[in-house]
Parts: sequence; structure tokens; C-alpha cells
Amino acid sequence: MNIQKRVLISVDDFCPFQCKHCYTYQIERDVKRTIDQIVASIANEKFDIVYISQRSDSFADPAVGLELCEKVFQRYKCNILIITRNILDNNQYQRLLELNKIMTAQNKMLFWACSVIGMESANVSENTHLIPKTTERIKFLSKLKTSNIRTMLLIRPLFPSFIIPNSEIEKIVELAANSAHCIITGPLMVNDKILMRLNIGEKTLKYCNGDTEYLQGALAESMKYVDVSDEIAHLDKICNKLKVPLFKHSMPAINFLLGNT
Ligand code: SF4
Repeated sequence: MNIQKRVLISVDDFCPFQCKHCYTYQIERDVKRTIDQIVASIANEKFDIVYISQRSDSFADPAVGLELCEKVFQRYKCNILIITRNILDNNQYQRLLELNKIMTAQNKMLFWACSVIGMESANVSENTHLIPKTTERIKFLSKLKTSNIRTMLLIRPLFPSFIIPNSEIEKIVELAANSAHCIITGPLMVNDKILMRLNIGEKTLKYCNGDTEYLQGALAESMKYVDVSDEIAHLDKICNKLKVPLFKHSMPAINFLLGNT
């Protein structure tokens, strides 16, 4: 099973988690579709996998995220990747396991990607009172892995080390080494509004060329890529040491987990 084509969907609401680095607040939306309408919106597309990740964290309300995934699978019988900063309670977890069981029986795979940016310094961007702690997110990843769900840790966006120190990233990889099948990273991207929200002066950052895999084209023209090549090299070294596969894009990671590489 080689995964080549993906589509992205999410709920239309602005994400309640309000991370300061998030570009989705600048994506205009004038509709609020029902879950059935969101699912129907990709009916004419061809794809191997649906990413539950686009303009919002659809698992901000896990009941909504779960319904979206269940209906996507009922209709399209496809692989599904969930990207979230949230975790599930026990009833929601059982519901996810049931979906995974149905998907596995039909030779499809469910991936859970947990996004994190740091430990103590995460509050430079994440509203830590609105979302589970990084340690709780990683603990939940471990629970999913033991239930045969493919798990990914997204250390994304990766911040410059003067904002989020390498030592925190190292700690995250150590904690996640047994919970994540792989790690994916990507640089912080900013525009004027994000810089203002993060309260970082533009001149304190170094920039570089980037690609738009993470942005999926949204606002790509207005974003600048922060140069975190040293931080990525450091992360690469830790992942090598702890034997955790590291990727810069999600599709190669998915294919790796499916045994295609
Ligand atoms: S959880 Fe994701 S979608 Fe929500 S604000 Fe944070 S980065 Fe944006």
C-alpha cells in the first residue's frame, strides 16, 4: 500500500487553542459546514489518505473529531491521519480503538500525530491552560501505540533554541522514544501577525528558504521560514542516538510506517 495522494479536512471553526504561531487564524472562512458537508466536500477528489488537519484542530472537541473520522471512513474506506494537540478520555479512546479495529479489518491504517513544541517554554506559543501538557500528550501517544495505532510526534514548528532550548527538545525525544513510531519536524514560519502574537522582533530571527508542505499552500506567499537548521541538526543527532526515525515531511513518514521504504 503506497500512499501518494492526500486530502485535508477539518471543522470550519477557528481553533479554540489559539497557539500564537498558528497561521490558521488568517484563513478566512465564511461558512460553518456540518460534519456531513465537510465529509461530502472531498467526494470528487482522488486520495489514499485523509488528513484530519487543515484550518483548525478538529479534536479540540474530541467528540466532533471522532465523528468526522468515523464518517470519513464510512464513506471513503481510506487511511486517516489525525493531527492534534489534544488527548482523549477513556470513552473517546475506546471509540477510537473501535474505529481502528474496523479500519484494520479493511486493511486501512489510522495514524495519530501529536503536536508539541517544547516543555516549560511551550507557553511562548501554546496556551498551556487550554491544552494538555506536553508530557500528557506523549503519555497518551504511548497508550495509543500499545493499542496498535501508528503514532507520530510532530515537533513542529521547531523554534530557534534561544526561544525553546535544545535541552527541552532533547527531553521530549527521550520521553517519546518509546511512544512515537517516528518524529516529524519543520521550521517555525512567521508573518507580521504571527511575530506580533509571539512578541518576537523580526530582526532577532534568521530566515531561510522553505517549502510549503506544512502550509498546504495556505498563506504561503506571506510566510517567512525561520532558519532552524542548527536546531534540526541537533534534533537529528538525538533521534539517531535514540533510534527514533526523523522526517521533515509527513508523507514519507506515513510510507515508512507502512513499510514502503
Ligand atoms: S492547535 Fe493547531 S490549529 Fe489550533 S491553534 Fe494550535 S496550531 Fe493552530
